[in-house]
Amino acid sequence: MISIAIDGPAGAGKSTLARALAKKINFIYVDTGALYRAIGVKFLNLGYNTDLNCDIASVLSTTQINIKFIDGEQHVYLDNADVSEEIRSPQASMMASAVSAKPEVRAFLLEMQRKLAKENNVIMDGRDIGTVVLPNANVKIFLTADPKIRAERRYKELIEKGKQVTFDEVLADMLERDYNDSHREIAPLKPAKDSVIADTGNKSFDESLEMLYSIIKNTELL
Ligand code: C5P
Repeated sequence: MISIAIDGPAGAGKSTLARALAKKINFIYVDTGALYRAIGVKFLNLGYNTDLNCDIASVLSTTQINIKFIDGEQHVYLDNADVSEEIRSPQASMMASAVSAKPEVRAFLLEMQRKLAKENNVIMDGRDIGTVVLPNANVKIFLTADPKIRAERRYKELIEKGKQVTFDEVLADMLERDYNDSHREIAPLKPAKDSVIADTGNKSFDESLEMLYSIIKNTELL
């Protein structure tokens, strides 16, 4: 099986690019952020805030996360309910970042991610795919872009989905998440030593896609 790891901060274009790339080369696309988001929603539903003042392991012991691919699209299930829409709220984003710093949560999701890559040709995106989840991935890409450009993209996405947010809130949330994600003790966001750094800041979607496609083509894996 072939695995392609795409890591990077929020809004660098990972999910839209990885999804399109997976279609182009006929791989499955695994969005690992969705798994952390679903766990975040579990804690939100239980009434916890980002302080997570609770027994994490005991909550996880009654939590079921599953993913299914329907028409090539990943759906995420929390305790058998499809939460694919719910996980996209700004509250779920912040909660995902909080739960993802907990070692119990990372351990809970690790095997599931590795199993998917063992059984399928995958493009997997996240924060620690090239460094921790799939250290032997065939290709590792670290996507990045200037924070203002990333926040602009995320803002547009949320507005298009009818969410009530301001640009300043989106930028502030994103900077806080980036800070948490890259400063946590376990599996922090950072480029793997053998990753290719790809900046999408001054590139259109098509140009970025072409850039990633040529990185993969150059490896002569396909
Ligand atoms: O990628 P996305 O923005 O959906 O991820 C939501 C949050 O999940 C991130 O801010 C990060 O805290 C966490 N995450 C992670 N490791 C991954 C994927 C996501 O810690 N592999």
